[in-house]
Amino acid sequence: MVQENKSRNLALAISVCAAVLSLCAAAFLAFYPPPATFSKLVPTDNPWVRDGRFSVSVCNGVQCKLCPFKCFLPEGARGRCKARINYGGRIKTLVYSKAVSVHLDPVEKKPVYHLYPGSLIYSLASPGCNLRCKGCQNWEISQIYPEQAARTTLVPERLDIKVAPDTGRVYGELKQKEIATLSPEEIVSYALATHSRSIAYTYSEPAVFYEYMYDTARLARQKGLKNVMVSAGYINREPLEQLLKYMDVVKIDLKGFNEKFYRDYTGGGLWPVKQTLLTLKKNGVLFEIVNLVVPGLNDGRESMADMIAWIKKDLGADVPLFFSRFAPNYQVANIGATPVETLTWARNAAMKQGLKYVYVGNIPGHEGENTYCPVCGRILIKRYGYAVQENQLTPTGGRCPHDGTKIPGIW
Ligand code: SF4
Repeated sequence: MVQENKSRNLALAISVCAAVLSLCAAAFLAFYPPPATFSKLVPTDNPWVRDGRFSVSVCNGVQCKLCPFKCFLPEGARGRCKARINYGGRIKTLVYSKAVSVHLDPVEKKPVYHLYPGSLIYSLASPGCNLRCKGCQNWEISQIYPEQAARTTLVPERLDIKVAPDTGRVYGELKQKEIATLSPEEIVSYALATHSRSIAYTYSEPAVFYEYMYDTARLARQKGLKNVMVSAGYINREPLEQLLKYMDVVKIDLKGFNEKFYRDYTGGGLWPVKQTLLTLKKNGVLFEIVNLVVPGLNDGRESMADMIAWIKKDLGADVPLFFSRFAPNYQVANIGATPVETLTWARNAAMKQGLKYVYVGNIPGHEGENTYCPVCGRILIKRYGYAVQENQLTPTGGRCPHDGTKIPGIW
């Protein structure tokens, strides 16, 4: 009788456990659904689908090893970035040659200050991003599936420099064209035809259109163009190091210096971005850092001071560092623009720590827009917004004309 009761109790306990587990699983799936399967939506003749790099086969799927999220993708599943998929047991990029935003920008707009000041940079993006920044300025392209992007895009094709016969004023006439795909060869040829001196992989997150960027950068290097990656730095070391063979400048958006802020605001972590910056330093690549200062979220004096101290100690005093003004946007449109005093305080704090090239971004006319000689303190490049008003570095090959100090950069 006792034995019978024991068995009945055991059976009851097992059923209760099974019921609780099923409920938990249902609740978990409701909040964290598995990646949607899109494989049937990827036609085999889709011109933007190509083999992706950096993955391994595991269990019944593949694991993408391009970025620190290391998504596990069962057949047909899409990665967190929306731009990579397990299709037929192999990782595929869905955005090769799928340019969604293509512009001819001043290099200062990236912002990159230590590369050919005042030059044009051919800038492009593909859809997708691995982070979820609440204040993303380009969320219309970074947070969409490639299928949601417009089928065609207007791209700059040629820039003719003309002189007005009556006034003698020099102006540019830009010819553009509507395209559905933009190959690496076309990018390089259009960059040359628009007098660009470099190409920027920017606006969304270039790490997730890695193969497209890599092939374009390799070709651009052969044709004498410089390559600039503007990134949040959320990429694994091996793909990054392979890419660095062709990158001339990397701009990293270091969004803050606190793990909790990073998790809450971007959905990623701070540690991998610090690793990326250390990898750039180790590989001797020219890089700049920008920190968008969002009031109330990442503008704590202590955490900014920690960031400055770490940059000085681990990356060196020569790294150009920007503190940029945030403008209300996307999911944090309720937060006001960064006060100028906060940015000025951050710049002064960084210079006090010994950083030599500290800038203030998005405040036209601020003294922090200029490049100064760290030895004699004179202005070497005077800027107003995206315009370069005076440039003493290009004629000297990057040396202060007053005391010969070498300024890091490509001039
Ligand atoms: S690149 Fe995309 S698919 Fe690959 S690990 Fe990162 S988020 Fe996942």
